[in-house]
Amino acid sequence: MLKKYVMGNWKLQGNLADNKALIEGLRAELPTLDARVGMAVCPVAPYIPQVKELTAGSGISVGAQDVSEFAKGAYTGEMAAGMLKDVGVEFVLVGHSERRTYHGENSAQIARKAQAVIGAGLVPVVCIGESLDERNAGQTKAVLTEQLDALFAVVGTDNGNIVIAYEPRWAIGTGVSATTEQIADVHTFLRDYLTKRSAAVAGLPILYGGSMNGANAASIAALPNVDGGLIGSAALKPAEFAAIYKALVASVA
Ligand code: PEP
Repeated sequence: MLKKYVMGNWKLQGNLADNKALIEGLRAELPTLDARVGMAVCPVAPYIPQVKELTAGSGISVGAQDVSEFAKGAYTGEMAAGMLKDVGVEFVLVGHSERRTYHGENSAQIARKAQAVIGAGLVPVVCIGESLDERNAGQTKAVLTEQLDALFAVVGTDNGNIVIAYEPRWAIGTGVSATTEQIADVHTFLRDYLTKRSAAVAGLPILYGGSMNGANAASIAALPNVDGGLIGSAALKPAEFAAIYKALVASVA
């Protein structure tokens, strides 16, 4: 696994024509990827095979936005990690704040989903983050600790194939990114937390997500312990997503 990533979460958006234009646009912006910085896009599940085809030979990985905690059975509407692997998925978002908010997912269930992803040989991208009320009440680090404790209680601390995405809930889709001071503070805290847990997880990539765009990417990417970005709306614009990727490459150069 690489140490730096830029990942695009397309959410509930896209269709055959738009996906084609988006990936072709991205490939035109970035004819080659830098070997030190990975890129993944997470389309809506029905389009995964199409996006696999469109990204063939580009180095762009394909991810999924969610997964079942179960491998198979009577779970209508669910997708198993093994099935995602079957169609070429490499990364799976788990615990995105929209899953927590609109689908009532809690940290224990998210940990079981992460375990299912690991069990299938894929990499979970575990999203954690505080609400605005929690931040204002000074609970940010306690909330993140609870979310990570729940994760490691299930997946253990000997697996280095996990990506952590710090996404303050109040910064997602709002156009208001966390400040560089807030991001640096939290990412340093998260790195310390991981370092204390075990050598295997000490170096897990920690992505920032929340209104990251072409204009703020360079200052965020330059922060210590920021290993990339999980991008929502800007991931739907090839030039913008490419600019974020280039900012990450510049941060490792
Ligand atoms: C996201 O959906 O994970 C996200 C970070 O969205 P946005 O970039 O639009 O805030």
